[in-house]
Amino acid sequence: MVFAHDAVHALTAVADLVNTGPAAAGADRLDGLPALRAFTVRNRIGGAAPLTDADVAAARALRDRFHAVFRAADAAAAVPVVNEIVGRVRPAPRLTDHDGHPWHVHFSAPGAPLGEWLAADCGMALAHVVAAGELERLRGCAAPGCERVLVDLSRNRCRRYCDSRTCGNRLHVAAYRARRREAAS
Ligand SMILES: [Zn+2]
Ligand SMILES: [Zn+2]
Repeated sequence: MVFAHDAVHALTAVADLVNTGPAAAGADRLDGLPALRAFTVRNRIGGAAPLTDADVAAARALRDRFHAVFRAADAAAAVPVVNEIVGRVRPAPRLTDHDGHPWHVHFSAPGAPLGEWLAADCGMALAHVVAAGELERLRGCAAPGCERVLVDLSRNRCRRYCDSRTCGNRLHVAAYRARRREAAS
């Protein structure tokens, strides 16, 4: 499966949103407008209406639904959740070739509130993953004790850790130390 740039963008934002939640972060890191602004900057989400407290509430509510998709045991469990997400908004599909990308469909109107982009465009990206039989690409980090989620966009589905600079490295260092201990004993 080849992911279009928008799908990569949307799915990465979904995982980042889920990882602001108490389950992944230990506390709710989406605790107000500054945190939501930081989320949109970090994920290069532009074109949405100016953010308000209602957007914080909408993003937190959607975050729980997104998390449920990652936790779904199979497509049958994921489908009702994804349908509920995309069913929240009236989609405004339109073809666009913004920023030099080939023609593709956006599902929320330009300037729509952030929650509409999350529900429509991120929701449709999740719907396409389920429809393609690729739900297993949405999963939890394999590092012990890490509750973060990840989207495996690699060609051969080999990604295991939420962030190779933290969890991946942490495990590599632990394995290296274990080998050295064995060699020394
Ligand atoms: Zn686009
Ligand atoms: Zn991790």
